[in-house]
Amino acid sequence: MAELRRVDPRRWKLWSLSLPVLTYIAVVETAATLVVVATARLTPADALAWTWFALLAAGAVVHLEAARGIERIREIAAEGSPHAHMQSVWLFAGVLLLPMPLLVALIGISYVHAWFRVYRRRALPHRKLFSACTVILGCAAGKSVLLAISPVSLEGPAGLLGVTLAGFVYWIVNYALVVGAIIMTNLDKPRRSAFGHPSDQLIIAASIGLGCGLAIIMTSHPWLTPLLLVTVLALHMGLLLPQFRMAARTDSKTGLVDATFWHEMAERELDRSRRLGSTVGVLILDLDHFKQINDTYGHLAGDRVLRVVADTIKSVVRAYDLVGRFGGEEFAVLLPGVGVNGVRATAERIRFEIGALSVGVVDRSGMDRTITNFTASIGAAIFPDTATELSPLLLAADEALYQAKGEGRDRTRVAVLNLR
Ligand code: GH3
Ligand code: MG
Ligand code: MG
Repeated sequence: MAELRRVDPRRWKLWSLSLPVLTYIAVVETAATLVVVATARLTPADALAWTWFALLAAGAVVHLEAARGIERIREIAAEGSPHAHMQSVWLFAGVLLLPMPLLVALIGISYVHAWFRVYRRRALPHRKLFSACTVILGCAAGKSVLLAISPVSLEGPAGLLGVTLAGFVYWIVNYALVVGAIIMTNLDKPRRSAFGHPSDQLIIAASIGLGCGLAIIMTSHPWLTPLLLVTVLALHMGLLLPQFRMAARTDSKTGLVDATFWHEMAERELDRSRRLGSTVGVLILDLDHFKQINDTYGHLAGDRVLRVVADTIKSVVRAYDLVGRFGGEEFAVLLPGVGVNGVRATAERIRFEIGALSVGVVDRSGMDRTITNFTASIGAAIFPDTATELSPLLLAADEALYQAKGEGRDRTRVAVLNLR
């Protein structure tokens, strides 16, 4: 049903926007279309340009694949503020190396790939189209500046000025257009939140710089390109992402997100599902008789079990489901787009996998021991069937968990009644 609804143009969420916002979007998208059409036959792509294109497209795809799970969380977290586009490394290298038609194709590949692999059709299509158009305009503006200042090579002071200004223009056009749209759609929210976090913008600046380095290496020492590709990936995974305030929100014992962050994400996911008219499943899981494990094998062994159980839950659910630790031996799972049957099936799969675990631990006396026969109780609830706000939804899931415990543990209970 949800699919059908989105295909019918009369029911697009786009039309719920105010007239000034619609006009603004139309102007930006028309401008981007004009740029694409006007530049479509400007510079014929030679064999070399096709090589750069293939390398940059491959880099962009591998980069996004490697950071897929994290990118999705970042995208949800950016709701209502600009989403810092990590692919600027490849796109800005494209600004320096590619003729406009190939640059547009690179942007297209990056967005289409992200649509299917990161957003999984759970974002609003008109927002992503708008965002792609702002990137096209930013790239075109950056390229014009570069051609005007240092048309032939990137050598000397003109090269430095050209690349710096092109980078700045690429960034500011994109950023200003997105911030403009956010301010216009959220007139009731404080202006400041539309500008996003400054550290996100610093990362974009770093990505532009890296993109420039990439372009230079690719043209002067093409064989060294893989070195830079690996460096970019390593930087993204290892250094840049903790910058997105993920680290502070991770529970060190299990590596899962903490309860505060989970709540924030769940609120945003409910907002998104209200817009999309889709469902969200919520699970709360509590290990059965966990105290006995601590009492028998010691607290450190208990900690080890918590880690293994956390990894197990994560391995059962999809990359973009969010598993959090609610405290103690209690976990919460957010399952976007999942309905009653899916929620029950997922809960049962998690219970099955936990039951099949055998965890090697060292007990209090230093002996190696293997613990098996774990069981867990799970309470589930579904938005909007069970409740339409997060608090009653979680309360209902918690109530269902208590019911599962009361009925003898080692089972799943789903709260499907609408408790509003
Ligand atoms: P049940 O849920 O089946 O009713 O029994 P339970 O024994 O699991 O009871 P409860 O959920 O009330 O107890 C939770 C126990 O989890 C108490 C505490 O010793 C243990 N626990 C909580 N946090 C941690 C932790 O970080 N590490 C370890 N090792 N144990 C923890
Ligand atoms: Mg317990
Ligand atoms: Mg408990």
